[in-house]
Amino acid sequence: MFISGKKCEPSSLQKANVKNPATGELVGAVTLADEKTLQDAISSSKTAFDSWSKTDPKDRAFILGKVSAALKEESIANELAVLLTKEQGKPLKEARREIEGVTEVIDYFASLSSVLLSPDAKFYQNSNGYAFVSKKPLGVCAAILPWNLPALIFSWKVIPAILTGNTVVVKPSTDGPLTVLRLAEIFYESGLPAGVLNVVPATGELTGNVFATSPAVQKISFTGSIETGKLLREKVFSAANPVQKRLTLELGGSDAMIVCGDVDVRWAATEAVRARFFNCGQACVSPKRIFVFESIFEEFKKQVLAEVSKIHVGNGLESETTMGPVCDKNQWERLIDVMGRIRLEILETESDEIPGPGAGEILTGGNVLKADRSGKPLNGYFFEPTVVALAPDRSKTSVLLREEIFGPVMVLVPVKDLNDAIERSNDTIYGLGASVWTNNLKQAKTAVEQLDVGIVWVNQHARVLPSLPFGGVKESGIGRENGEQVLNDYLETKTVVLKNV
Ligand code: NAD
Repeated sequence: MFISGKKCEPSSLQKANVKNPATGELVGAVTLADEKTLQDAISSSKTAFDSWSKTDPKDRAFILGKVSAALKEESIANELAVLLTKEQGKPLKEARREIEGVTEVIDYFASLSSVLLSPDAKFYQNSNGYAFVSKKPLGVCAAILPWNLPALIFSWKVIPAILTGNTVVVKPSTDGPLTVLRLAEIFYESGLPAGVLNVVPATGELTGNVFATSPAVQKISFTGSIETGKLLREKVFSAANPVQKRLTLELGGSDAMIVCGDVDVRWAATEAVRARFFNCGQACVSPKRIFVFESIFEEFKKQVLAEVSKIHVGNGLESETTMGPVCDKNQWERLIDVMGRIRLEILETESDEIPGPGAGEILTGGNVLKADRSGKPLNGYFFEPTVVALAPDRSKTSVLLREEIFGPVMVLVPVKDLNDAIERSNDTIYGLGASVWTNNLKQAKTAVEQLDVGIVWVNQHARVLPSLPFGGVKESGIGRENGEQVLNDYLETKTVVLKNV
């Protein structure tokens, strides 16, 4: 862990091993903070806040610039990407892209330091006096990270907080802590003052309790599952908790992708496969429900299967690998369980609630993978890239459409028209992203207006930029990350009204 700018691994504390999901090999171990250590990290950030909050935003941006420059050095970028692949499983190319994404976030927010320095436009004056609005950083902000994109999501939470003069305590997932710890080290090597960024691996429940009830923690930003997000929200806003704080929740998604009848089918199918199987299907903005116009459904299916057959599953460190294992045993077992339930649903069961025979077809995959395409044995948490087609009249209650499937499973459903597609897309508790694929501007406009989500794409999916707000509606979360507007989430507003005497 990193507290007050120093690596510390107290021998009295419990350790957690980090294993490569592709091989089971030990990659490293982390020390798990207990309650006292978490409190120490918060105190360290509180102390650092006094001076960090008074620094010039340009000086903060200068340090961030040095971090970005370090991450762009070939040796460091490669070292981080290899570490990320080893601890999380994703192909090296995707890991390199994630590290590049971190530098893009840093460069974008560093460029906004002038926004923080510019005089506030909201200044009122008349003969009686004047009024203005001033902004100041909140204090200690806490971040709870997931394991799927640990480096990128670290940057979304840490960079705007630091730039606005806050200090941060980060709790990484025990499934992806090593890259985050190495990133913290690079921040300190680049001149970040001690305590501005503390990183403490710990168990989730303990961290949630400590962050929710600590009077020093002014804001918590969380990314993870809906269930955990709700637990955290209950703790933060419980009547028994005397402490008020801000909360941002980035929870799951089950994005719809609507493919209209007028598109280039091969292109749309290729893009769908790329988006769905990226990161082994473990991304919140992956297109998890694909609604395809009936007129092109058979052709779309054919093109998807052709594309999926090209996926090379294997160890992410090997150059030919285009999809790695799922991140850990838990996720792997969840996937096996989901596939079991799908089989039951579409092959054997029939009731009013559950679809039953004829409700769908597993077009490819559906099993754990024990060998790669060349026959080489695979001994990790591998799963076949899977495609399931669901019959439209039977599909509404399917587990595939109701639950967020965090793994390499693509679901195709034929739809009559755009209205049918939009209705099905919105028939979910999730509201993160959705896309519509069409050459027809009117269709695109209708979908953009009617899809009930935080982000909607036209003719692309999962394009996420640091300059654009990111987050969901409905049960997918509260608040947004990224974009200039997020700076306000890390600033307190003070209104000053002064009367002439
Ligand atoms: P999770 O919600 O259990 O864990 C996410 C983070 O929250 C981890 O750092 C974890 O240690 C921490 N945590 C766990 N319990 C906590 C608590 N009571 N209070 C505060 N923090 C706590 O998610 P998971 O088990 O890693 O993954 C489960 C599912 O979550 C996935 O299958 C997927 O559906 C979803 N998920 C979504 C995203 C996303 O980007 N929105 C990312 C990862 C996982």
